[in-house]
Order: sequence, then structure tokens, then C-alpha cells
Amino acid sequence: MLSIDDIRTLKRANPLAEVAARCGLELCRTGSSYTGRCPFHHDQGRPNLSICCFTDASDDFFHCFRCGAGGDVIRFVRLLDNLSFPEAVARLQGTAPIQRANRPAPITRTTAPQWGLAERACLAAAVTLYHHSLLDDVQALGYLSERGLHRSTIERCRVGYVAGDELARYLAWRRLPLRAAFRVGLLKPGGRETFAGRIVVPELRSAQPIWLIGRVLGEPRAETPKYLGLPGRGRKPLLGWESAVGEACPIVVESVFDWLTLRSWGMGGLALLGTRVRPRVLNALSRFEHFYLALNSDVAGREAAQLLVDTFGQRALPVELPGVKDVSELAPLPDGRERFLRALNPWPVRAAA
Ligand SMILES: [Zn+2]
Repeated sequence: MLSIDDIRTLKRANPLAEVAARCGLELCRTGSSYTGRCPFHHDQGRPNLSICCFTDASDDFFHCFRCGAGGDVIRFVRLLDNLSFPEAVARLQGTAPIQRANRPAPITRTTAPQWGLAERACLAAAVTLYHHSLLDDVQALGYLSERGLHRSTIERCRVGYVAGDELARYLAWRRLPLRAAFRVGLLKPGGRETFAGRIVVPELRSAQPIWLIGRVLGEPRAETPKYLGLPGRGRKPLLGWESAVGEACPIVVESVFDWLTLRSWGMGGLALLGTRVRPRVLNALSRFEHFYLALNSDVAGREAAQLLVDTFGQRALPVELPGVKDVSELAPLPDGRERFLRALNPWPVRAAA
């Protein structure tokens, strides 16, 4: 456990401008501060990132005038590679290399696609870009707000928005191989972005994305699928695995927005991302002694829930949703969380961190 003094010492040993330069940023000095292109959005034209340096380097901070990213050197490293606080501290202490992490995320055998280092680096960069694009997009933020999702949930779950014309240039600028982005399915032949126009949600393992799913912003046109997962070699995992594994009785829901709703309420759970219950889903659920089933209250949802009850017996606890079609409909309601908690009775659920 580091004290405030330890953190200050660590920051003094890692002046922000030096760390940014080691991470590949080209910086221009003006007096005691530096400017450069912001690594957290596709920074075109005049550079938007400002790094302010002080005699005591523990006071150094950065700010982007376009996307609003900002903070100290630890925040910078965290944002750049989507690291937790302890991971960023370890990186700065030199126990982990300062260049891109490229460390293998723990893979859960039944549910996680496996990628090479270059693919994982591209996926992590895409999640960073898309997340900051969302924070800069009034329409996409408005859509999420209407659905009851606030900034803290968006940040915790690294939710993003894909404008659709930024990824290739951003990856080139980060010196990441475009071919890997094609292999992982982020780019389509011709260079178009797979998730253009969609809200995207990553599946994170040890803070690193292993997969992405996107939902059309607003109502989709007839020929457009509402949801789209990362295509290709990456198999569809269960969304939210790490929020569920620590729970005594996790909540199984159907869609991305149901799961985001659980997270906004501080509850752990998993999204099946559909109603097809494959053998590997059964295999994954078999590790839980009990779990709630809060699937949609339509025919497909009830059939999937019945199949799970038939398979797991009393370990699967079906939830009668309180007058709504799915969990996400409760998110914008002022008493949505309370109504859901009442529906979980008589089995109290522990609120996750
Ligand atoms: Zn920026």
C-alpha cells in the first residue's frame, strides 16, 4: 500500500513530459509546458494536448482541450493502456515496461477468444479511441443518458462510440499494425470500421479488452442488425464475466444494456447476449452455486430461462421483472433499482464494487 508521499516520489521520478515522450508522443516546448497530439482521441489540426510541468514534477498535469482528458502522470498511463491504478503504478515503478502492455490477459477457458499481442494492442487502442470519442459526442452521450446510463458507468465499463472514420489513422499514429486490426475484425475490407455508428461495449479481463459488441445508436434501419459482435476468430464471450465471478449469486441478463444497467446499480452479473443457450454457456454458468435469471419477459426470454431452470434446477432463480420487458427499461426510472431489488426477494443480492 503506497502512502501519499510514496506516490509523490513516484511522480517526481517520472516527469509527465518524459513519460509521454517515451510512450511515443512528439512534444513541442513552450515555456514550462509542452503541447502535442492527444493520444486519447484522433487529434487533427492544431495539437490539443497540453502538459504543464513544474519544478516539483509531482505537480505535473496534462489536459486535452478537445476531449477533456486530463490528470497526473498515473492517470496518463492508465488512460493510455486502460490500466488499473496499481497496474499504472507498477508500470511507472519499472516493474512493468513503459511501452504498451501487451501482457496476456487471463483467459477464461470457456468464454474468451484468444488473440495475439498485436491484435490485443489494436483492440485496446480502439477501446481507448472509441471511449474518448463517446465522451466528446453529445448525441451519443444523450442517447445513453436517455437510457438511464450516466458518466460513471460509461467510464467504468469503458463504453465507446464509433464515429467511423478515425481508427485507421489513429492506429497508424500509435504505430500499431493495421493488419492486426483487420484480423481482429475492427476494420473491414476497404478500411471501413466494423462498428461505425454504434455504441460499443468491451468485454474486459484484467482491465484489458478481449472482445467488443456494438449497438446501433437509436433505432436501426430495417436491413441493419441492432447488435453486432466482433466478427472472425473471436468467439462471443459472456459479457461481464469479471463482475460476476466474485458474486455469491450473480444476475444473468440478456442484452448489453441490461448488463450496463446492473453495473450502474453496482450489481454484478452476466449478459448472455441473446437467448441461445450454448453448451459453453451452460459450462460457464455451472461454476456458480446459485444465479438469478433476469431474462426478457417475452417468449424467447422465458424459453431460455426455462431451459436453464431445467438444467440447473434450484440453483437457477428466475426473476419476475416488475412490469417491464427487460432490465434496461428500469434504468431510467427513479425507482428502477428498488423495484428490481424487490423482484429479487427473497434472495438478497450483495452489491458489487
Ligand atoms: Zn484529447
